[in-house]
Amino acid sequence: MSKQSHLHCSFCGRNRDEVKILIAGQEGHICENCVEHAQEIIAQELNVKNDNLSSNFKLNIKKPSEIKSFLDEYVIGQDDAKKVLSVAVYNHYKRIAHKQTDDVEIEKSNIIMVGETGTGKTLLAKTIARMLNVPFAIVDATVFTEAGYVGEDVESMLTRLLQNCNYDVPAAERGIVYVDEIDKIARKGDNPSITRDVSGEGVQQGLLKMLEGTEVLVPPQGGRKHPEQKMIKIDTKNILFICGGAFDGIDKVIARRVNTNAIGFNVNKELQDAQRNNLLEFINAQDLKGFGLIPELLGRLPIVTHLNPLDKETLRNILTEPKNSLIKQYSKLFELENITLKIDEEVLDFMVEKALEYKLGARGLRSICESILTDAMFEMPGTGETYLHISADYAERMFSKSKLNLLKVA
Ligand code: ADP
Repeated sequence: MSKQSHLHCSFCGRNRDEVKILIAGQEGHICENCVEHAQEIIAQELNVKNDNLSSNFKLNIKKPSEIKSFLDEYVIGQDDAKKVLSVAVYNHYKRIAHKQTDDVEIEKSNIIMVGETGTGKTLLAKTIARMLNVPFAIVDATVFTEAGYVGEDVESMLTRLLQNCNYDVPAAERGIVYVDEIDKIARKGDNPSITRDVSGEGVQQGLLKMLEGTEVLVPPQGGRKHPEQKMIKIDTKNILFICGGAFDGIDKVIARRVNTNAIGFNVNKELQDAQRNNLLEFINAQDLKGFGLIPELLGRLPIVTHLNPLDKETLRNILTEPKNSLIKQYSKLFELENITLKIDEEVLDFMVEKALEYKLGARGLRSICESILTDAMFEMPGTGETYLHISADYAERMFSKSKLNLLKVA
């Protein structure tokens, strides 16, 4: 008997002459049948784990109340929006995890958030993505145009998503896209036939399929500058789209619907503001339609929520409360120079006052901080000093010589 005939597959035991190929390892052999079988097992196992496969993006699904608590750590106020978002996001990822076994198909819960600029819409979307550990992209609806026109195609939002997760396609396919300024692609006027506009309705149409779920060929580098690039196929079925917009003037649309008068001669500003808040609470898809979003698009954005304008107290809390609040960040910057930063309470009030006075909102708090602290950040490193006290006097002095001061509108 030749030596060859003693050889056998260490997995199935078949002899050399019973198989076509026998691959030698250090201590044994494997036949082609077993390789094939092993491959099937691997594919199956990977498929089971596919939802959680990606190395850097292990989905971290939390209960709605946990999602809200997480949001509370970073976003001040906006309780209504937080609650609605927590539930929608939870349901969305539950929908992904759920393997459909009956006729009940859970639909996607894309979201639309309405609220003045700088009230935390982007921050909410970003924070949710961070908590869930899913890829996230922010895109601006105003840069999109109908295919064929100058500007970006709607597909480019997926390029952004892919780039942000290093082209990890399975991760991108359950990521979150935040589409900012969705109100800017509203159809102008109520008559669609005479006001067809390139950037408005056409873009809304372009978004439809993507929001609902479809396979899209995405240029990995984006744009049309690289016609030779190989497209990547992305299924948007499980991508959550969160849209946001200020919808300036929507209060009047709501008012018309709820039959209240939002503007009046002898209504004071405060009352008007309060009414505006209250009115936003009543917002629904019908109002957004009245504003110029097409019904088909609204149908794919079933969850509508609102954000309140930021009042004095909220702005004050934004300075100090969030986990990475501005004041905590500046303290850290000084701490890294071995400098203890002490900011008086009045200074914080002063910052809020200026943010309101100059209509800078929460976004402006940062530039106000910067205007007050830049000199110290410039001069102190290297001096050996270990303590910086910011008094109201000092803050006012620094602020008044800053460029921000010039912004004041009479
Ligand atoms: P929007 O998307 O509504 O225009 P952003 O979410 O971009 O506004 O907010 C701008 C900045 O203002 C944020 O980065 C954050 O620092 C701050 N901010 C706004 N609203 C809040 C809030 N409710 N809580 C904490 N920070 C906020």
